[in-house]
Amino acid sequence: MEKKNIIIHEKINIGISACCMGSPVRYNNKGWDMLQNLGREKQDFNWCPVCPETMSGLGVPRDPIHLSGGNGAMVWTGEAIIKNRRGRDVTEEVKLGSIACLETLKRAEVTAYVYMDGSPTCGVYRTSLKKQKRGNPPGIFGSVLLDEELFLIPASDLQSPIKWWDWRRRLLAFHWFRSLEMKNKDDLYKAWYALKFLCQEIDDTWARDMGRKLADLGKISEEEISSIRKEILEVLRKPSTVKKITHSLWKNYSYYRKTRGETVEGIHSPDFRRNVTTIAKELLTMERTAFEEGVFFATSPVIYRDKRRMPKVEPEDIEMDEEIEATLRGELPEEE
Ligand code: SF4
Repeated sequence: MEKKNIIIHEKINIGISACCMGSPVRYNNKGWDMLQNLGREKQDFNWCPVCPETMSGLGVPRDPIHLSGGNGAMVWTGEAIIKNRRGRDVTEEVKLGSIACLETLKRAEVTAYVYMDGSPTCGVYRTSLKKQKRGNPPGIFGSVLLDEELFLIPASDLQSPIKWWDWRRRLLAFHWFRSLEMKNKDDLYKAWYALKFLCQEIDDTWARDMGRKLADLGKISEEEISSIRKEILEVLRKPSTVKKITHSLWKNYSYYRKTRGETVEGIHSPDFRRNVTTIAKELLTMERTAFEEGVFFATSPVIYRDKRRMPKVEPEDIEMDEEIEATLRGELPEEE
């Protein structure tokens, strides 16, 4: 069995609320470039900006809109409507704008979507500003995004290097696993082997139950594979915490030191006090070093590399002995 990271070379397509990519399409003619926080990593993805309100034909600038009588999902069933500030019913226009954007995202074959939370249209968990009570999530387009089972990333998390690192590694794992061909138990075991450390970090209790479930499997049907795939994808959608990420980093570093007999400058233990930006830098250093040395960096199992940036010789396959694997498992942090 392969015991190194999975490398993907194709760029993932990501949809994004256009106002978060710098387009001044909000009702007040403003927008923010949230992607500038990603630096060079922005180029590792193909971005597909869409704006359902602009596509509805309401124009820029326009009167702000709000949900009335229910949430965005209820707009689609006719139980709620959308009104602008003057009280005009704009439900049909925004529905058409949302459908047009969904068609665009489908054509672009996006895996994920970066949404603007707090919007009655693109919001998923909030449809009003933090301070305002009015709001009924999800928004009308947010409900479409949930139905499509996309990997949903809140735009505000792009501003935090460690949150983005967490979203990015889970997105890569999600993208790889979603389209992985799995015909039998062996295929499923191999995939689980690659993902289980990350899943344990996100939800240890669930991951241990899943491990036992897989170990007890007899002959498995296509339906069962698909149901297990769905369950694992659901877990990969869940953010981790700084505490868990820091512990995983240290465990992976300890594994690296045992395997290579070398240290990496600047990686600290979980007890060492530092800010999240420093931790994010340590994660990137460890990720890069493990990749270059061909050591399995289990907390970030799937890595994107532009083919042009690949070393000429593939890193050798380093065997992970059972003792170290058990150590890695045993050192998992407690559930918070
Ligand atoms: S939140 Fe969505 S609908 Fe509103 S301006 Fe941004 S992209 Fe357009």
